Amino acid sequence: AGANLPAHLAALNAAQMAAVTSPASVLQVLAGPGSGKTRVITCRVVHLIKSAKIDPSNIIVATFTNKAANEMKHRIQSMLGSELPSKLIIGTFHATCRKYLINYGHHIKLWPNFRVADAEERLRSLVNPSYSTSKSIIKKIIKKIKSEMDPGTVQARISHLKANNESAAFYEAGLMKTKKVVSEDIAKIYRDYEDELIAHNLLDFDDLLIRMVELLRKMPQCVGNIEHVLIDEYQDTNLIQFDLMSLLASARSVITVVGDPDQSIYGFRSADRRNLKKLLQCYKETETITLEQNYRSTGAILHSSLSLIEQETSRPPKSLQSTIMSGTRPTYRKLRDNRSEGTWLAREINRIVKRTGTMIHYGDIAVLLRSASLSFELERGLGRAGIPYRMAGGKRFFDRAEIKDVMAYLRLINDPSDNSALLRVINVPSRGFGESRLNKLIAESEQYHTSLWTSLKSFIGGNTRLCGRSEDKVRSTLGAFVRTIEGLEKMNGEAIDVLIQQIVQKTRYRQYLEAKNPHDFQEKLDNIKELQEFALDARLREDDLPDIGLERNTTCRTPLGDFLAHISLMSDLVGNSEETAGKGILTISTIHAAKGLEWPVVFVPSIYQGSIPHSRAEDIDEERRLLFVAMTRAQRK
Ligand code: ATP
Ligand code: MG
Repeated sequence: AGANLPAHLAALNAAQMAAVTSPASVLQVLAGPGSGKTRVITCRVVHLIKSAKIDPSNIIVATFTNKAANEMKHRIQSMLGSELPSKLIIGTFHATCRKYLINYGHHIKLWPNFRVADAEERLRSLVNPSYSTSKSIIKKIIKKIKSEMDPGTVQARISHLKANNESAAFYEAGLMKTKKVVSEDIAKIYRDYEDELIAHNLLDFDDLLIRMVELLRKMPQCVGNIEHVLIDEYQDTNLIQFDLMSLLASARSVITVVGDPDQSIYGFRSADRRNLKKLLQCYKETETITLEQNYRSTGAILHSSLSLIEQETSRPPKSLQSTIMSGTRPTYRKLRDNRSEGTWLAREINRIVKRTGTMIHYGDIAVLLRSASLSFELERGLGRAGIPYRMAGGKRFFDRAEIKDVMAYLRLINDPSDNSALLRVINVPSRGFGESRLNKLIAESEQYHTSLWTSLKSFIGGNTRLCGRSEDKVRSTLGAFVRTIEGLEKMNGEAIDVLIQQIVQKTRYRQYLEAKNPHDFQEKLDNIKELQEFALDARLREDDLPDIGLERNTTCRTPLGDFLAHISLMSDLVGNSEETAGKGILTISTIHAAKGLEWPVVFVPSIYQGSIPHSRAEDIDEERRLLFVAMTRAQRK
């Protein structure tokens, strides 16, 4: 690199430089992890603005997440050495489409005040939280037509059809020909679903892309004079995004895509690796540049990762060399169960951080999980060891609403006079007991110095009045609630996992969860299952005290009481202690959300059959790529 080069060109190798300054009209950069693909995009944007004097409003950059977009904006700004041009369009496909549709959607008969039906949690942050969810709509229709199909499956199926540009009518017509009985239901649900969206002025996430394609076909001028379209993580685009890319790029614009087929991990959401081939087919003039130097990881990490991905049989060979010292081999550790894994991880993390001379802080470490529901034992271990952590895009285990709810039910069963527990669950699921009634109940119990539970029972017995209208209805709903809790109270003594199971069933908590969180309901159930498993485990172990031959207090003790005491101590331990705050905070993230990012030290726990590969996974190769993505986030260890 020359000494007189501007910042955005100085730190590039020859191949990267060629990509950044390439005059090709269609450019694809295919390269492995850590080879600087994202850096190429960022530097190319700066190059276009600074050297080629392209008007920033004529540049569109599509990133995979909002987080990536923000990071890129940051870097571009610092390289430009001035304010980030506000007209530069950087964001996810969905965010960008939404922006255009709000402004120009009326040209394709879209009401300007459309709302977005939330379908995918990774994009939730884009939209107004007051959403209807596409899955709740689908559920309603399924119920109406008395189908037995699983809403999640139907939703995925419809989304897949939409992502492949098959409209409801088109799909139905196709079915007529083939007469597939199973899918007739889907065709019908699909059609009703579309009607329902239109009736409520809603767009789902697929619609954002589909309608934008429609808008661009009708009014290509609405995006102005786009001269450059740049796409990061191209391997995870779907077919509609390909159409969008082609339409955004007029005949005169330049297309730049960067990606790595080995890191395609969103096939389960209709991303299509074939887009890589499609680019070459549709744009014969495409120039391909490969980057073969990895700047992220030590040779040892790279070697291990590559030996994993090379097991994919249909994969074309690729060259990737580390530019940094070889480093030590990754540690592979076999542990008995999640619990010992959590303990070991915490100990190992502290060993690394406290070892003198390493200069590694908690903030340099990430623990990457196949799914968020696996975080429980890990968080427990970290909590005990006093290690501060944050959950990327999620809450810590005991802060999660469903865990708090179930714990409140357990506390209430253990002790009905536990007012805070009652307050948490009295209206969860909704029992028509809103705030004003609750306030009256509280006032009542204060006046008579009784617990809320006692006041509640007196209300149900008809001894007090709390509300005017629909009093009887509320009374009977709450009566059922009280009887449920009392029924469960009689089970105090049973194993906790059984109790939890009963709570979820008898209070209709499961249905409540599903209605409230259609997109990640399964994950929430997994969290509850994790709590059940922990309870089971706790029972087997009795408690952590070593047996010193002294007789233990067993009177007045129930498994539930012991369990709650145990947990309450544990959740107090989980937190950020003052002395560690300065050294940064460890990151826990899902692998999917860690795409494109890097940390000096990375742990990937729970690699076993059922987790990676996941029990619900359909594509084993994609599972392998997922692990590959996880491993290649690591820089040194
Ligand atoms: P991924 O496939 O994981 O998204 P990537 O190909 O996008 O990776 P980058 O994130 O752009 O890779 O770069 C990986 C790391 O290497 C970053 O820390 C980046 O700053 C650094 N890097 C890239 N190119 C160079 C270079 N020429 N000299 C020094 N460091 C570089
Ligand atoms: Mg990248």
